[in-house]
Amino acid sequence: MDFVEQLKSSVDIVKTIQGYGVKLKRTGSTGRYLGLCPFHTEKTPSFNVNATMQRYKCFGCGVGGDVLNFVMELERISFFEALKLLAETNGIPMPKREYSDPDSKLRGALFEMHEMAASTFHANLKGPNGTEARNYLARRGVTPEQIDEFGLGVADPSGQQLLRRLEGRFAAETLEVSGLAMKRQDGSGFFDRFRGRLMFPIHNESGKVIGFGGRAMKSGDEPKYLNSPETALYRKSYVLYNLHRAKGPVNKAGYAVLVEGYMDVIGVYSAGFHNVVASCGTALTNTQVRAIKHHADRIVVNFDSDTAGAAAAEKSIQMLLDEGMQVRILELEGDRDPDEYVKEAGADAYRSRLEKAPAYFHWLADRARKKFDMRTVEGRLEGFKFVAPSIQRISDRLERFAVANDVADYLGVDEKLVRDYFAKGSEERRHINQRPQVPPYERLLLNSLLGSEAAREAVIPQLREMIVVERFVTKNVFRALFALHTDGTGFRFSDLEGRLSEADRDLLSTVVFADEVLEEEKAAEQALACLRSLKEQDPKSEVAALRTRIKAAERDGNLEEAMRLAEELDRRSRRETSHQV
Ligand SMILES: [Zn+2]
Repeated sequence: MDFVEQLKSSVDIVKTIQGYGVKLKRTGSTGRYLGLCPFHTEKTPSFNVNATMQRYKCFGCGVGGDVLNFVMELERISFFEALKLLAETNGIPMPKREYSDPDSKLRGALFEMHEMAASTFHANLKGPNGTEARNYLARRGVTPEQIDEFGLGVADPSGQQLLRRLEGRFAAETLEVSGLAMKRQDGSGFFDRFRGRLMFPIHNESGKVIGFGGRAMKSGDEPKYLNSPETALYRKSYVLYNLHRAKGPVNKAGYAVLVEGYMDVIGVYSAGFHNVVASCGTALTNTQVRAIKHHADRIVVNFDSDTAGAAAAEKSIQMLLDEGMQVRILELEGDRDPDEYVKEAGADAYRSRLEKAPAYFHWLADRARKKFDMRTVEGRLEGFKFVAPSIQRISDRLERFAVANDVADYLGVDEKLVRDYFAKGSEERRHINQRPQVPPYERLLLNSLLGSEAAREAVIPQLREMIVVERFVTKNVFRALFALHTDGTGFRFSDLEGRLSEADRDLLSTVVFADEVLEEEKAAEQALACLRSLKEQDPKSEVAALRTRIKAAERDGNLEEAMRLAEELDRRSRRETSHQV
């Protein structure tokens, strides 16, 4: 057994998950637990843990896997980091050579390089060559204290300064993947990626510099913002600007303020609202939303008014709603961005705007009111239809109806129209959400086979000959199971999963987490009972299968086998005729 398998089999997945504050309740079946999913907001539990298989699966948001996947997903760390963490917390010594993280040396070097870059940029800004940048920041109302707090800096325009410092300490290969240096086209070395730009260090959640945003200071310098490329440290879709400073305050306030840019964060934060983070221009990803959600499930979205309705903003808002966040929208009048607003109107005015920010659906209804003629029935209905698709996406049924009625009321739309509209909608949704149902005997059979070597030995040789398997919803899972059995290398759940498509893996999860009462010690008996009832259930296909096998045996010249099968066929045909009469 390799170390990963050894670790997985010695770590208790139930205890590990509970250790993260997830309350798990035992269900009726041995080794099955159910709780509220830590990865999405829900009121009724759909997060399943199977202690026997050492797997988890959420039927609400679809996440699932083994204990390593759980730790990776929840802590948002790499496979090796999760491995190390689990080994440490469970007192399992890691084999040194084999399992030392091949990336950890590189990551260590990259962290060091980014630290050096940040201090170089910052020193530039404070030094004699930083006058221009300091003036620029002063014009934007950024104080020297804010410059220090946010570690702002400026990149030397020569394109050589940082490079010279890094070259002495780090290998060319490391430079190349750092995101801080660019290779010359003629191959004669490197130059600095960032030149003459105002530099905003970007930190990971634990506060280490992992990348930079570089803003052009002169008009005409393109692009306006140049960011670090994706590196081993910096993954754009994972990072929120300022989260490492904001997470405590977000926890305390119970909500986060989401703005668009670095300057907005600095302005809003400095005005005393420490729970502010920025998406930095791109639409939010679910990873970013979950990063916020670890600290609060409410958020105020405060984008520039000119972009509040733009595609990226709407996508971000939709992502927040999909992840179960309660979203409010803060729109500032007069096309002012948050940074300008707090400077001009002051912190108190911003606070009162924050407190009065309408819930997303009311804000949307207000937009509808402006867009359509609310004096006519048609206009009001159009307005409602404008909001309805967003309401449709609320996953909780009761909440969906409550919001729909609320919005209909606000727009003056007849309640009956709303009900009709949503009755139609939910039918469509049912259709989309339909996953293939696995019949009970199929679930029981598969579970017995997964859970017991004895059941596999007793049943698989017969079952694999049966044509009825071809009509199983889970036929691909069975086929994979048969193939593994033939290999004779012993059964491992991960091997089985490895042979399946995503859709079949999903089916397998459905089965593994189905609330079937299964007694481990009676698994073989149970499986044989299933086999017998399958044979009785479907004599016709078994007869057909026998005919095929007889032909095959004759073709192969195996007459003995052909005779045996013919007798079996005869017995069955007689039984079937007697049934019919
Ligand atoms: Zn979930």
